[in-house]
Amino acid sequence: DADPALRPAPLPEDNDRALRPQGLDEFIGQAEARSNLRVFVQSARQRGEAMDHTLFYGPPGLGKTTLAQIMARELGVNFRMTSGPVLAKAGDLAAILTNLEARDVLFIDEIHRLNPVVEEVLYPAMEDFELDLVIGEGPAARTVRIELQPFTLVGATTRMGLLTTPLRDRFGIPTRLQFYTVDELHEIVRRNARKLGAPADDDGAREIARRARGTPRIAGRLLRRVVDFAVVEGDGTITRALADSSLSRLGVDHLGLDGADRRYLHLIAENYAGGPVGVETIAAALSESRDAIEEVIEPFLLQQGLVQRTPRGRMLGQKAWDHMGLPMPRKSRD
Ligand code: ADP
Repeated sequence: DADPALRPAPLPEDNDRALRPQGLDEFIGQAEARSNLRVFVQSARQRGEAMDHTLFYGPPGLGKTTLAQIMARELGVNFRMTSGPVLAKAGDLAAILTNLEARDVLFIDEIHRLNPVVEEVLYPAMEDFELDLVIGEGPAARTVRIELQPFTLVGATTRMGLLTTPLRDRFGIPTRLQFYTVDELHEIVRRNARKLGAPADDDGAREIARRARGTPRIAGRLLRRVVDFAVVEGDGTITRALADSSLSRLGVDHLGLDGADRRYLHLIAENYAGGPVGVETIAAALSESRDAIEEVIEPFLLQQGLVQRTPRGRMLGQKAWDHMGLPMPRKSRD
């Protein structure tokens, strides 16, 4: 497709397409979301209608794109993909919408980053499958209405709070994705190892799962790196010892924290006596964007109880002090 606003498929690190589950049955974890989606997909199929618009939200790498692709496959329709920042003008979105076939899935990643002008175009498209296009300028401007094929919009966002209310309200199926348990990641790592043709024993796979930050994308990436070490420095088999030494060399600690996580924790511990400290201050001190802190670093640390969000800012939890091997200063105990 020549349309620059349409990307054929995401190609993040290591081309993780090969590891993507293809159907709902193959998708592990997110049990509640999965069983609900199964019902909504089947109902749409039986009624011969487009499935209702669906919003996936949650931290990166938990399977939002994957689930959108699976939905299209299970609905038996085309999958089209674009993203909020790519749709610069109303016309970019209009071009995509007018090319959709009946009941297609249009996936918009990072939908919280849509230009407001583009978002306005989306409202009638989602609600009535209509496009109102303004042609011309000034007093000569007029609106033409274009009928669209019924379609399913699947939006994905890491920041539900940044979605405007009118956009949020137009999704019939808002679905929050959760961090995965170690058991779920264990199963994912075992399957991925099989797909990569890399023998992993049970403890080896579990060690990778434990250190994957609750995130299948990270599990896939760590697995590939451990395979590299196993091939070059071991006998090709992923054992617990090999996984442990490889991951330690990659700077991934026993909780799965990486260098950025540890810099965050140490900053609050050492420069702010454990907090509270505001997120803007943290972002400036770490030279990271506030978005990266809030979308990528903090969700897992919060979920693990390493950090707490308070009205006065971020504070380290007891678990963070224990993990760093530092004594908790007196004042944070009050
Ligand atoms: P997101 O869109 O939320 O950032 P993706 O859908 O791109 O996440 O998933 C990231 C990677 O993790 C992909 O390689 C995908 O195959 C894998 N993945 C995600 N969820 C699962 C799952 N439940 N089971 C197996 N692999 C998964």
